[in-house]
Amino acid sequence: MPDYKSLLRELPAVDRLLREPLLEEKLLHLPRRLVLQAAQETIASYRRRLSDYSDLDHPPEAPVQIDLSPAALAEEAALLAETRAGFNFRSLINATGIVIHTNLGRVPLAPSAVEAVTAAAKNYNNLEFSLKSGERGSRQDHLEELLCEISGAEAAVVVNNNAAAVFLALNSLAEGREVVVSRGQLVEIGGSFRIPEIMAASGAHLVEVGTTNKTYLKDYEAVVNENTAAFLKVHTSNYQMVGFTAEVATGELASLAARYSLPLVEDLGSGVFLDLASYNLPPEPRIQDSIAAGADLVTFSGDKMLGGPQAGIIVGKKEPLSLIRKNQLSRALRIDKFTVAALEATLRLYLDPERAVNEIPVWRMLTVTKEELLRRAERMVDKLTDRLAGGSVEVVKGISRVGGGALPTAELPTFLAALEPPEGESPSSLVTKLRRGRPPVIARLQQDRILFDPRTIREEEEEDLIEALVRSCSEQSRG
Ligand SMILES: *Cc1c(COP(=O)(O)O)cnc(C)c1O
Repeated sequence: MPDYKSLLRELPAVDRLLREPLLEEKLLHLPRRLVLQAAQETIASYRRRLSDYSDLDHPPEAPVQIDLSPAALAEEAALLAETRAGFNFRSLINATGIVIHTNLGRVPLAPSAVEAVTAAAKNYNNLEFSLKSGERGSRQDHLEELLCEISGAEAAVVVNNNAAAVFLALNSLAEGREVVVSRGQLVEIGGSFRIPEIMAASGAHLVEVGTTNKTYLKDYEAVVNENTAAFLKVHTSNYQMVGFTAEVATGELASLAARYSLPLVEDLGSGVFLDLASYNLPPEPRIQDSIAAGADLVTFSGDKMLGGPQAGIIVGKKEPLSLIRKNQLSRALRIDKFTVAALEATLRLYLDPERAVNEIPVWRMLTVTKEELLRRAERMVDKLTDRLAGGSVEVVKGISRVGGGALPTAELPTFLAALEPPEGESPSSLVTKLRRGRPPVIARLQQDRILFDPRTIREEEEEDLIEALVRSCSEQSRG
């Protein structure tokens, strides 16, 4: 049995470790404090392990081989220092086939939007300055006209996200008064956006009408009283009710609201301006249709189907929007210059729907042809077959998802590169290695195979993905 107490005395001192060539080299380009900390932590972790063993009455007979040489410890410390020096917030490759992936930053931006954000970061700009009059302007001015043009609305305000948009609309129109909602539309989205809770936070009182599966116009009308402030219609964007269901169409509800001089607020969520049917996708209500049907306010996200930056967009009639603009909370929920830049560039693409589909990544990914997906999956498989020492790869049929709580039942047929890892490597450990790699690759695990969906992998990312995969697999064969 090894003498753990004497092994403890063999541990090198921090100074000694820092004189190892590997760490001296790290000190040339990493912050000194990070390298020092990594050396200290590495030594401390061995000290803890050895003294734990020496405290045991029956320490392990044949412990894991412990190499306490300065060179071995330096290698560990160097790896730790490199990891700590890297950015926490990083780019990664989304191989999941989930197009709007909230955990992975929802959506990448169109090239023109990326350019606009970079310019906004580098230069001064006219964020709140009118170049025409030389006087103070509003950041909203850069977006309002465009939003009105593509939605048909009279006015628009953009805030931080759609949850803020709904909150602000309710607070501005209905604080201390009643808002009527169908029981079939009391949705929860993304775990923290819940209609009853957001309503309570806004100071409005929720009045539920109808039943879970059926709500009629007469249900809304029956509860109207002098304290009613608005009707709210919520798009059930992340689930679908099938069977015997009834809900009131926007147009009908808008007419009823108008008869009682009440505003109708519609939370559409995903921000669709294009006609999905023409791209073989299931129908989803469009913003301009709700405006045309008479909704007073329509709210939606900037970073779901719209394909832009995180934002909450409110379009609608002049009067309710002027109340929103006057609300003190608008300032607290306002967007920054990067959002203005990215959103303006994205919205401009919608002036020509064909450009929107071709240049906005979400739309490219949703409309890519099966032939193209097959071609890319085959190319990945060919490259991997050439480069991987073991394991097997093949093209299989599969399903991609829209994600982001949009079109929950839509199944987008795709072709996947499916990898069965080399002997001795479990699929789940390889998925973990890929996730921790450089760049991180997020892939789907299905039974004993790892799936890579070309739908969400940009072509210029393909080579990096293959490199990362080859590296992860060969780490294993070295043991
Ligand atoms: C996504 C969604 C929200 C929340 O929007 P965020 O931009 O994530 O704050 C609210 N309502 C509906 C209907 C949604 O789909």
